[in-house]
Amino acid sequence: MGKRFYSFNRYLREEFGERVHRLSLNAGFGCPNIDGTLSDKGCIFCNNKAFSYFAKDSPLPLEEQIIQAMAYAGKRFKAKKFIAYFQSFSGTYGNIDFLKRQYSSVRKFNDIVGIAISTRPDCMDEEKLDLIESFSKDYSVYIEYGLQTVNDKILKLINRNHTFNDFRKTVGLTARRKDIHIAAHVILGLPGETRDDMLETARQLTSMPLWGIKFHCLHVVGNTPLEEMYRNDEVKLISEDEYIDILISFLEIIPEEWVILRLVSDADRDLLTAPLWINEKQRILRKIEEELEKRKTHQGIKWGVEHRA
Ligand code: SF4
Repeated sequence: MGKRFYSFNRYLREEFGERVHRLSLNAGFGCPNIDGTLSDKGCIFCNNKAFSYFAKDSPLPLEEQIIQAMAYAGKRFKAKKFIAYFQSFSGTYGNIDFLKRQYSSVRKFNDIVGIAISTRPDCMDEEKLDLIESFSKDYSVYIEYGLQTVNDKILKLINRNHTFNDFRKTVGLTARRKDIHIAAHVILGLPGETRDDMLETARQLTSMPLWGIKFHCLHVVGNTPLEEMYRNDEVKLISEDEYIDILISFLEIIPEEWVILRLVSDADRDLLTAPLWINEKQRILRKIEEELEKRKTHQGIKWGVEHRA
C-alpha cells in the first residue's frame, strides 16, 4: 500500500528493520464492564471470542499460546520477531502482581521485541504505568486505549461506562511516560452517529499526544446486545462505500505521522452476523487504496487546516 497513509507494517519495518508480527494473546484478564463492577452486560458490540483466536472460555496457558502463535506466524508470514499483544478483554485490569506475572511471560522468548496492551482508559493508574514502563528498557511498549467515539451520549448508548474525559485524562497520564507509545481505538458507524460526529472524533483527537490509531467498522457478532438491536431493526449499519468515505475523511484530518494500526477489522466468520463485507479484508483494503488514489489525497492532508480552524 503506497504512502498515502502510515501503515503499521511500514512503521515496524522502519523501527525493527524486518517484518515483525503481533501475537494476539488471551492472558486471562477480565473487564469491569462485564464482571459487574461497572456493568454485567459489556459494551453492546462486545464478544471477545469474535476478535481473537485464543479468546476462548478456557484459553491455553499463556506461554503455550505464545509458542503456538510464534510457530504459526513464523510459518505463514516468515516472521522472526514478534510483539506480544495482550488483546483480550482489558489488559490492565487485575491485581498488579498478576499483571506483572502475565506481562513477564515474554521474557522467556528471545524473539519477542515488543509488548502491546489493549485496555480501557479507566483501568490505568500510576502503579500500572510504572510496571508497564519498566518493560521499556528491554522492549518497545505500546498501549491501546479503547475510546470508540468522543461523543459521551453515544458512549452511554453503547454502554462503555467511561467518558471521553476519562480517556483524555488517562492519555495525559500515560504521555508523561516518554517510552510508551499510545494508540486509540475508534469505531466508525456507531448507532446514532452522523458522518460529522465521526469526523469530530478525528478533530478532537488531533490535539492529543497519540502515536497511533486503530479503526473498526461497527459490526454485529453473535450473543451481543447489538445483535438483538440489529435483529429488531433498531440499528442501521453503514455500507462499505460509506465506511471508506468516512475513513478517508478521518485519515485526512489526523497527523500524517500517526501510525495506522488497522484500517478495517474482521471477525470470526462463525460469529459474524453483519456486515459480511468486513471479512473480505483484502478487497476492502484494495478499495481504500484505489479511493485514496482516485481522490489524490493522503493521511494528514487537512491536518493543518483542521488544526487551525
Ligand atoms: S471494554 Fe472491551 S472487553 Fe470490556 S465489554 Fe467493552 S469491548 Fe468488551
